[in-house]
Amino acid sequence: MYSLETLNALFENTETLTDYSVVEHPDEFEQKWVNFARAEMVKHGLEPHCYICNSNHTDKEKRDRIGGCCLWGADDPTPVIFLNWMNLRIFEPSELEYIVWHEIAHAIAGDDAGHGEQWIQTALKLGDGIVLHAGRPYTENGLRELLGVPANA
Ligand SMILES: [Zn+2]
Repeated sequence: MYSLETLNALFENTETLTDYSVVEHPDEFEQKWVNFARAEMVKHGLEPHCYICNSNHTDKEKRDRIGGCCLWGADDPTPVIFLNWMNLRIFEPSELEYIVWHEIAHAIAGDDAGHGEQWIQTALKLGDGIVLHAGRPYTENGLRELLGVPANA
């Protein structure tokens, strides 16, 4: 378990998520998804670091702008996945699994992979051909078109 301080520092080190922080006491529903994500992480050889996050932004659009995120500390190569509490309520359970897999694909592909080839292949594998990106489901062709990453590039 990371300390709250360590986890919140991960957000402070980002460019765009500095208004996010860790939810200290997840409720039962949130914990269910944390547990699902942690089990999936272990299944894929990762350490089970998943937490709920919240934005203190008052603008709703900005509060719910991420379904989740995967962050790395400056001196620690271990990925940590966060799920946005608000999006857990917005998306259907079937979609939430894909949010988790989107983030696990980041954790596996690595910090430098971004939404590039390595991430695309990993995410497609995890979602059995379907990837949720920015709240919408894509098959391989649509995803590659969206991200500007052609096959066999
Ligand atoms: Zn992503």
